[in-house]
Amino acid sequence: MLILCTNDDGYLAPGIGILADAARTLGDVHVVAPDREQSAMSHALTMHFPLRARKVQDGVHHVDGTPTDCVAVAVGALLERKPDLVLSGINHGPNMGEDVLYSGTVAGAMEATILGIPAIAVSYAGRSAEHMAGYGPLLETLLSQMVREGDFPRETLLNINLPPIPAEQVKGVQVTRLARRVYLDSLTQAVDPNGRPYFWIGGGEVEWSAPEGTDFHAINTGHISVTPLHLDLTNHALLADVAAWNLSV
Ligand code: MN
Repeated sequence: MLILCTNDDGYLAPGIGILADAARTLGDVHVVAPDREQSAMSHALTMHFPLRARKVQDGVHHVDGTPTDCVAVAVGALLERKPDLVLSGINHGPNMGEDVLYSGTVAGAMEATILGIPAIAVSYAGRSAEHMAGYGPLLETLLSQMVREGDFPRETLLNINLPPIPAEQVKGVQVTRLARRVYLDSLTQAVDPNGRPYFWIGGGEVEWSAPEGTDFHAINTGHISVTPLHLDLTNHALLADVAAWNLSV
């Protein structure tokens, strides 16, 4: 099995090393990852600049682009054939709820899904990477089970979040839906030394709407969360209602 590993924290991030080591128990691993941090780049594709790939060592390239660029360049040029599996992560930070819409980690897996390759995104839901390294053996088990299950549904990727607790304290695996998060005060406005206003997005208080069955609830109760994500954003339940508006021009 040929496995491509990418991430959005850059090829030097500890998380991708842990993921690649776990993946090596399943097959041949090739790492193609950004040369620097590309978090929150979502599904950005670089179209107006050339991309350069540099071989760091056997089986490891970095690319001066986004996670989506990395998957495109790896599949289109760097790998000898289309990979059987694409893994993205381990992200340094959670990707739950609406995070998945901003995440470069999830987008890397999503790009593989678009290319028809089974893909799994993995994120560690802690602010520091304190317990991340201990998750290697659990990931090996989980990934091998997912690969054994085999038939990934089309247009679907699996989004894994790991709880920020020691791996040996994990209570189990829950299959979940996305929670909803609400950022409060996440925009900071201040004045720079030249007297001009600037804005800084991020931080602030986060509130969650996270009943049982959601990714956030699973993480909060010490479980590994696995969410199947579909690429079809159509609100199918609303098609008839909107059609009844009888829109015309
Ligand atoms: Mn990241």
